[in-house]
Amino acid sequence: MSWPTVHHLDCAPMHPVGGSPLVAHCLLVVTGSGLLLVDTGLGAADIADPRRLGPLFRRTMRPTLDLSHTAVHQIRALGYDPYDVQDIVLTHLDLDHAGGLADFPWARVHVMTDEYRAAMRRDGRLDASRYVTAQWAHGPQWMIHDTADSDWHGFAASRVLRAPDVLMVPLPGHSRGHCAVAVQQPDRWLLHAGDAYFFHGEMDLRRPRCPRPVALHQRLVADHHGQRMTQLERLRELRRIDPRVIRIFSSHDAYEFSQLTAQTVGPLR
Ligand SMILES: [Zn+2]
Repeated sequence: MSWPTVHHLDCAPMHPVGGSPLVAHCLLVVTGSGLLLVDTGLGAADIADPRRLGPLFRRTMRPTLDLSHTAVHQIRALGYDPYDVQDIVLTHLDLDHAGGLADFPWARVHVMTDEYRAAMRRDGRLDASRYVTAQWAHGPQWMIHDTADSDWHGFAASRVLRAPDVLMVPLPGHSRGHCAVAVQQPDRWLLHAGDAYFFHGEMDLRRPRCPRPVALHQRLVADHHGQRMTQLERLRELRRIDPRVIRIFSSHDAYEFSQLTAQTVGPLR
């Protein structure tokens, strides 16, 4: 079995009003037989027409709209062929995670059933603003993950790949069918926890903490706040396992991103 190389990409740097810079942490997994992406950040069409992201997201999160940050651009810059992206695994379908889908229209797109349904229905004000239909208007080849067919460290999980193992681990709360994605490496697991939490301090075992504006934002955008907190508690339990065995990180925390990349946080030049 060939072990995957994993690249950490920031596919939508953001500078929220009154807050610290955020990243959109995506993974490029080089599996030996092809490429797999975990989340896509913003895409070329979002940059060409930022209005489709909605005024609320643009004004509060203030994303850097530059083609050089798109996954497709970064994949090319790393020397890979974007046509080799066979699978895209999404933690959820929020606009800052699904924007790059149209840059890889040939890829299979893996998403949990509940998330797919919520995004197609767009019921209510919150879902109508978080899900941008235009981002999947090209008609992706959806791979809808319904039942959990595997166990991953006590979590029900749905398998995407075997050898290297890639699994979707449902962690609903932030959005209806939100999940984490576990990627096997030779010596450890990476667990991309998506938007299960925004701030690394929330995972601190001794003194969990979160800046108030960040906590408030998470509450406002949660599909189910209580459920999110329950899942966060489960994640924190997992954190007791040596990070050399399971390395957990989230989508938007710039500190975690900088820890996992050699490059400093900021635009790729
Ligand atoms: Zn997000």
